[in-house]
Amino acid sequence: MLIDNALASSGQNYVRSGTEKDSIKQQHFGVNSAEEDLDITKPANAPMKSVIDWASLRKNAAKYEAMKWAGLPPVEKNFYKESSRTASMSQEEVEMWRKENNNIICDDLKEGEKRCIPNPVCKFEDAFELYPDIMDNIRKVGFQNPTPIQSQAWPIILQGIDLIGIAQTGTGKTLAYLIPGFIHLTSQPLSKDQRGGPGMLVLAPTRELALQVEAECLKYAYKGIKSICIYGGGDRKGQIDMVTKGVDIVIATPGRLNDLQMSNFINLRSITYLVLDEADRMLDMGFEPQIMKILIDVRPDRQTVMTSATWPDGVRRLAKSYLKNPMIVYVGTLDLTAVNTVEQRVVVIDEEEKRAFVQDFVESMKPKDKVIIFVGKKITADDLSSEFSLQGIPVQSLHGNREQYDREQALDDFRKGKVRILVATDLASRGLDVHDITHVFNFDFPRNIEEYVHRIGRTGRAGRTGEAVTLITRSNWRVASELIEILERSNQAVPDELIVMAERYKQFQLKKEMERDFQRPQRMPLK
Ligand code: ADP
Ligand code: MG
Repeated sequence: MLIDNALASSGQNYVRSGTEKDSIKQQHFGVNSAEEDLDITKPANAPMKSVIDWASLRKNAAKYEAMKWAGLPPVEKNFYKESSRTASMSQEEVEMWRKENNNIICDDLKEGEKRCIPNPVCKFEDAFELYPDIMDNIRKVGFQNPTPIQSQAWPIILQGIDLIGIAQTGTGKTLAYLIPGFIHLTSQPLSKDQRGGPGMLVLAPTRELALQVEAECLKYAYKGIKSICIYGGGDRKGQIDMVTKGVDIVIATPGRLNDLQMSNFINLRSITYLVLDEADRMLDMGFEPQIMKILIDVRPDRQTVMTSATWPDGVRRLAKSYLKNPMIVYVGTLDLTAVNTVEQRVVVIDEEEKRAFVQDFVESMKPKDKVIIFVGKKITADDLSSEFSLQGIPVQSLHGNREQYDREQALDDFRKGKVRILVATDLASRGLDVHDITHVFNFDFPRNIEEYVHRIGRTGRAGRTGEAVTLITRSNWRVASELIEILERSNQAVPDELIVMAERYKQFQLKKEMERDFQRPQRMPLK
């Protein structure tokens, strides 16, 4: 381990390949034979019996590095062909687009002369026209438009440039890196069978997030790409079996992956596309040492994408260590222009009373009113819409489980006014552009505050004013304080119950923190 330390402290990686035994041999090899190979000369005044010659190790670090990565196949990274529509955007249009899409800020972090930041792709076709299978998959899930981070990230990543994407949770960062990753994997000069190991690695902070990424991978399954999920607490042997069976994408939490890597169950030399997902959370969870150890074994000329919801010092440091000449896309948290043209009413209510409330609301609609009722689950969308239909109220529903044709029909009926009520999941909150929606009714509170802003932005469009009614239950207490902030900023009434809810949540968190602090010393082993 001496060499390990020596090289680590000289900022370089030691050679490790083959089995763990080999790697130990290799470390010794580094001391003994490298003297002839690598011109290690002892200084004249070297202290007697110095086992490690630090100065020469440092001097030869670059040679070690070159030796370590010798013989790897070349990596292809640039697959981007700008569509004529994207190319024809004027500088003003691009700036306007960025401003209107949550105030996107882009920068080139390369030292010296700056490169041109590519124009955003406003439609899916602009990025993936050449990949019909990918377009089919996107159509199947029914997304209308790329999210802001996707629009700006795709043309950068597809050019092979490292990217840092900073955007709130729920803004579509997964597909922002996954789809270019699929293209990268399937467009290498070496076929995936010749590669001899996975080509893409996604590091994610928790098992849940890793599983979510895996689910997205499966949903967009492309050209038979195989992925696996490796996380702590799961069946270690089962996961090892899976890795050794050969996969294209590994999605892993850093702890467990490092464990498998140390026991040589996984070979990371074939990775050419690396993602550090939710970097801020990985740092918060203390994964930096594992990330460091994992990345020692990933070739340095890979492409790297890092996502994060925030951009604190730790994340900047990580970016500096592991990304090469990256561009950064920063999506501002909230586009509050929409909320100022919408009158917002928030009702604190019990779950069982919601049905009666929405019923009253629908019955009191005026002939010109058009409402979109947002719900959290597909099943709620089905329940509500069939209930209204049974009562003879014309209604349509929009969610991910409906066939593409039905969804288009639903949207068309709503747009043309054949129905004046659309019950929808968040699938419909982005990119849905119907100009004469008068009301947004949030039957279930959205996942997060950004989604709230997106949803209510479906009304009050094109210079009109709109109304939003939002039902919130005690189970939504963690968003109460953020919601209060939005209401206050747009001069809306804040219900007292909401203030109480926010206060109670704050108390609850304080109590939890105190309990944690209190328990910590007790858990220490007795000496
Ligand atoms: P993040 O990683 O930024 O937190 P996710 O990638 O998990 O967000 O995406 C959040 C949700 O948005 C997912 O359910 C995903 O399927 C959906 N989504 C992704 N891209 C789009 C899009 N272009 N339009 C609508 N929904 C999308
Ligand atoms: Mg994510």
